[in-house]
Amino acid sequence: MSQQPGQLTFVAPRRAKPARHLADLSMADRRAAVTELGEKAFRADQLSRHYFERLTTDVAAMTDLPAASRDKLSALLPSLLTPVKELATDGGTTRKTLWKLFDGALVESVLMRYPDRATMCVSSQAGCGMNCPFCATGQAGLTRNMSTAEIVEQVVAGARALAAGEVPGGPGRVSNVVFMGMGEPLANYKQVIGAVRRMVEPAPHGLGISARGVTVSTVGLVPAIGKLADEGLPVTLALSLHAPDDELRDTLVPINTRWKVAEVLDAAWAYAAKTKRRVSIEYALIKDINDQEWRADLLGKLVRNKLVHVNLIPLNPTPGSKWTASRPEDERAFVRRLQFHGVPVTVRDTRGREIDGACGQLAAADA
Ligand code: SAH
Repeated sequence: MSQQPGQLTFVAPRRAKPARHLADLSMADRRAAVTELGEKAFRADQLSRHYFERLTTDVAAMTDLPAASRDKLSALLPSLLTPVKELATDGGTTRKTLWKLFDGALVESVLMRYPDRATMCVSSQAGCGMNCPFCATGQAGLTRNMSTAEIVEQVVAGARALAAGEVPGGPGRVSNVVFMGMGEPLANYKQVIGAVRRMVEPAPHGLGISARGVTVSTVGLVPAIGKLADEGLPVTLALSLHAPDDELRDTLVPINTRWKVAEVLDAAWAYAAKTKRRVSIEYALIKDINDQEWRADLLGKLVRNKLVHVNLIPLNPTPGSKWTASRPEDERAFVRRLQFHGVPVTVRDTRGREIDGACGQLAAADA
């Protein structure tokens, strides 16, 4: 369903839920689920080791389980994601996968391998209700929330490809996860927190990814940022600001009509104070829209002397949008103004542009 300009959708349409999966459950719930199936509780630990450590869902290969148990336990490993299309660029080190979910909903994830790390960019919703006019995902509206296991499965798929040596650079592992694919993670709070817990739990109970390697990116749902700060999960918070003034941000990030720049920044500083984690401010540079020096100045004044890092993203093109990336000289001037205020700033590389896999380009068209 496409949205009117500025319209926000918080509540996902009611839909049938995906099957329950091991990755949906805490360790205690896994043991209970296994017992319900008539198996000994410790089978949950064995099953977890197969899934989170060996990255396998093939019960036939789980030779430490009795044959009769394997059949029963396979109920906890339903297939949730079916690959529909895979595109690669950067010599195979950037790979975008289009997935079909059990009900036909489409989502995308992107694996980016660098010399020193491998980052999995995951979706948390099919579509998005936040309606930012420069983002391809926002244009199609919200189809539904993803389950915890559907989110985790994207990371497991990337981990599997790396472990199998399918990505140039030799066998490797996922070191970072960014919730910068489709969807607004904090609008699907419970499932996203569950997924983060599975990612950061040490193996064999979880994937054993460091919490500081996980980034939750949000348009700025203020109450949810407060909740996140209290989870005891020191993940990195990225705030999609894109404008330092309410007048422009109201149009670029429509959630701003509900929570203003000052409020969302306060929430970000509170998050930094509580978690001791540097907050990342995301700012897509859009030619002649938000890239003026006076806006850089205003941004610099708002964020200077805070535990912050500004990430400038040259706008990635999206279908039907009249906007483009800033001129190189304007980008340079913007960086200089922020540096003048002593603000740490980097310009993000735009990996995956050629395959529509860069920030804001994920639209999951099955073409
Ligand atoms: N809903 C979340 C996460 C998804 S988007 C959020 O908005 O933060 C991940 C990042 O890509 C966000 O900072 C988003 O604003 C940015 N982005 C969206 N469209 C973009 C585009 N066309 N070019 C560059 N960055 C874009």
